[in-house]
Amino acid sequence: MLEDCLFCKIASGDMPARIVAESDRWLAFRDIDPKAPVHVLIIPREHFESLDELEEGHRSLAGELLLAAQRVAESEGIGGGYRLVANTGADAGQTVFHLHLHVLGGRAMRWPPG
Ligand code: AMP
Ligand code: ZN
Repeated sequence: MLEDCLFCKIASGDMPARIVAESDRWLAFRDIDPKAPVHVLIIPREHFESLDELEEGHRSLAGELLLAAQRVAESEGIGGGYRLVANTGADAGQTVFHLHLHVLGGRAMRWPPG
C-alpha cells in the first residue's frame, strides 16, 4: 500500500466506497462522479501507478482485471454494450495514479472520445 494513495485506501478499507464486487486481487466500486448511468472502477489491490507499470509477471493479474470488467458489466446489466477505459498518464486524463479500469455503459457512447 502506498501512503496517500486514494485507491490504496479504498482497497484497504480505510476510505469508504460503494463496492460492487471484489476478489483477493482486485476491487470494483462505483465512480464517485459517474460519467454514464453505469460507471464502475476496477483496481488491483496492489499499487501500480498506471498500466505502464505492468510487466510480464503481471500477465495473470492483467487478465483477471479484464475478466472482472466483463463480469461487472454483466452484473450491472450492460453486458454486450459497454466501454473499458484505462487513462494512462496525465496527457490521457489520468487523475488518480493507481491503475484502474473504467467500466462505462447504460447510454450510447460516442467515438472518438475527447
Ligand atoms: P482517471 O481520471 O482515469 O484517473 O479516473 C479517476 C476516477 O476516479 C474519476 O472518474 C473520479 O471521479 C474517480 N474518483 C475519484 N475519487 C473517488 C472516490 N473517492 N471514490 C470513487 N471514485 C473516485
Ligand atoms: Zn495505490
